[in-house]
Amino acid sequence: MKILANRMDRGFFRYQKEFEDKALEVLRSGWYVLGKEVKSFEEEFASYLGGGYCVGLASGLDALWIAFRVLGIGPGDEVIVQGNTYIASVMGITMNGASPVFVEPDEYYNLDPAKIEEKITERTKAILAVHLYGQASKMDEISALAKKYGLKLVEDCAQSHGACFGGQMTGTFGDVGCFSFYPSKNIGAFGDGGAVAVRDEKLAEDFRIFRNYGSEKRYYNKIVGANSRLDELQAGLLRVRLLHTEECQQERIRIAGRYLQEIRNPKVILPKVREGATAVWHQFVVRCEERDRLIEYLNGKEIGTIIHYPIPPHLSEAYGYLGYGRGSFPITEQYAQQVLSLPMYNGMTEEEQQYVIDAVNGF
Ligand SMILES: *Cc1c(COP(=O)(O)O)cnc(C)c1O
Repeated sequence: MKILANRMDRGFFRYQKEFEDKALEVLRSGWYVLGKEVKSFEEEFASYLGGGYCVGLASGLDALWIAFRVLGIGPGDEVIVQGNTYIASVMGITMNGASPVFVEPDEYYNLDPAKIEEKITERTKAILAVHLYGQASKMDEISALAKKYGLKLVEDCAQSHGACFGGQMTGTFGDVGCFSFYPSKNIGAFGDGGAVAVRDEKLAEDFRIFRNYGSEKRYYNKIVGANSRLDELQAGLLRVRLLHTEECQQERIRIAGRYLQEIRNPKVILPKVREGATAVWHQFVVRCEERDRLIEYLNGKEIGTIIHYPIPPHLSEAYGYLGYGRGSFPITEQYAQQVLSLPMYNGMTEEEQQYVIDAVNGF
């Protein structure tokens, strides 16, 4: 049986007619940017998160860098972030001229709250908590630290749509929650898309102005902004996704539950869910000391896997200028050498799940 690491086509075909009807409706409407689909999606997504405001943007990276820009974070400022995140989180910081200050992750692959305080200096302006792989970070402690030191709190929710801590949605704890709707995310568009979630109405207005060349009224530009708009077609298709999100999340939780229950191999370390947190399983990430041999073994059985992520940002060529070498962040680096994401997608059949379970157990 051939099993790919991800199957985005399955998520489309399950709701094919609804997606196609919506696409035609938007195409035939004659209005393609900043119209009623975006407005409705923003309202519906904000209400999904439990209130506040949502502003649609062009991508998750835009949500991140524009968030720091709008919050006034720039050259000379430091932002605390976990070392094992996707590089886009770090780019969101450095695109503003600010510096990332890396903290080692905890055993749930998220920012370790116990290691934040020692990194705070007088230049620290914000904490960026990335809810990696779809599991909420320890937001009670992280929020308390942000408050204690007067820091802005930004959440990277590109992998955590719908994941909660203490019953509260990720993306609603800090000043800004940043979302990506890249096709492979838990709520995925059919192209690029992103959004920010905020509770402050004035802040929401700042994002609306920034995304549209810094103008509130056409051709009256208040600030130097950007062109970062979620388009009508993606917003319309995302509204269809949102209607089925609960069902899709439950399906991922069922698949992960089965993996957790049935994968039994002393060589394979299963993920754990933090008390008080929920996981929406953007990825199901295991760890294995012989990771590369496991990949080859699974490949031999036609099972696709992905490493999220093989090179941590501090060791990437892009961030060579930060001057870190191997050994700077041992836990981050160990994870990069051991993590492996097993196939996990909506529409994964029970036979496919069984095949993956048997294969991993046979390693
Ligand atoms: C996908 C992702 C991003 C970037 O989102 P894009 O929409 O691809 O720009 C940022 N952070 C994390 C953790 C991601 O997984």
